[in-house]
Amino acid sequence: MQLCYHSSWLGNDVMVFQTQLNILISHNDIAKAIDRLACEIKRDYQGKQPLLIGVLKGSFVFMADLIRQLALPLELDFVRLSSYGAARESSGKVRVIQGVRTPVKGRDVLVIEDIVDTGITISFLLDYLKKRRPASLMLCALTDKPSRRRVPVPIDYLGFTVPNKFIVGYGLDFDERFRNLPDIYTLED
Ligand code: 5GP
Ligand code: MG
Repeated sequence: MQLCYHSSWLGNDVMVFQTQLNILISHNDIAKAIDRLACEIKRDYQGKQPLLIGVLKGSFVFMADLIRQLALPLELDFVRLSSYGAARESSGKVRVIQGVRTPVKGRDVLVIEDIVDTGITISFLLDYLKKRRPASLMLCALTDKPSRRRVPVPIDYLGFTVPNKFIVGYGLDFDERFRNLPDIYTLED
């Protein structure tokens, strides 16, 4: 199934991409999942002032919607890690492009990620943060692609499990495009 507003969102790419994008998760279902995740997080962080760390760029749309459902005295920071670039496969090597600036020691840290695929990126980040001695360290991921896991990753708060397909939209890109699509799509070959 495809949504009719594709054409306006895709501009000149419409001829190339319209037939290759299939809707996987609608913005309505994303909103419901965010309500559920926000309830779980609020319950677990009562009386705390968590530091939410978003992984740029993919998680920014999810994080923006999630924090507005979190009635907690939270703080935000971001890290930027090396990305796939124009490839759909991880190189397996992760680099920190922009590290965390807020002191992490003694904080209740909640990492916000768009997708856990092989697990290589997020386990690298969790190790990087653990070295900075947070009081607690949890992971909230919008999506999980467990079929491709190479490194075990405990996901404390999960939106959706997705099939072994490349997904775009709602912050997730292919070669920097499609981040602004309101729903999540599979990008077919
Ligand atoms: P991992 O290291 O777990 O293999 O990959 C993590 C990162 O790769 C994610 O944070 C995301 O940026 C990117 N990634 C993995 N799978 C997908 C996907 O299906 N679609 C998009 N757009 N990015 C992905
Ligand atoms: Mg990411």
